[in-house]
Amino acid sequence: MKLALAETFCSIQGEGHLTGKRMFFIRFAGCAVKECILHPSQENLCDTDWSVSEVLKGEDAIDKLANEALKIVGASGWVCITGGEPCDQPDALAFLASSIQRLGGKINIQTSGTHRVNAQWDWLTVSPKVPAAELKQSYGQELKVVVADQTDDQILDYYNNTRFWNYYLQPLWSDSNCNSDQTLALLNKLNDCGQPWELSPQVHKYLGVR
Ligand code: SF4
Repeated sequence: MKLALAETFCSIQGEGHLTGKRMFFIRFAGCAVKECILHPSQENLCDTDWSVSEVLKGEDAIDKLANEALKIVGASGWVCITGGEPCDQPDALAFLASSIQRLGGKINIQTSGTHRVNAQWDWLTVSPKVPAAELKQSYGQELKVVVADQTDDQILDYYNNTRFWNYYLQPLWSDSNCNSDQTLALLNKLNDCGQPWELSPQVHKYLGVR
């Protein structure tokens, strides 16, 4: 078994319902989402650096990473597994998640929803990069939509066709600006339609931390 990693670091979760919780972030390398809503043209590529920095080989190496993570955040602390797209490495994801849970840690998995998640989690965040009808993972704890060029109907569909505990809109940043006006106008419109979306402001960006 192998796990291709982009990076690991400890920080504060700045997005969604778990905002403010200290977490150890494990970013998997690679993302197989071909037509990402956020990056619809080949010229406008994803700005998430999910290139491989290290490949863990074997179960012992993955167990060691789980141990290191919980040494930092505490035995019952949070570990955020994100990417790239962690579900592109399903065996490594499942093994890492069970290793963390066995040690007593809590797991937040962040995925684009383009695969069914085959691992244990305490909190599952889907940030969809395909329309609602194409989502393979349509339930969990929170759906977090990054506002780009989606139509109002596409956003309404996410709520109508999925089963999440919480629904968030999150502004899209480019350089040092974000589309806050567009996001807030959309939030008001959805709330006026009776859909209980909330704002996920990405507080780590305002705090100047990762
Ligand atoms: S799903 Fe995430 S990592 Fe993959 S292309 Fe889209 S923004 Fe980038």
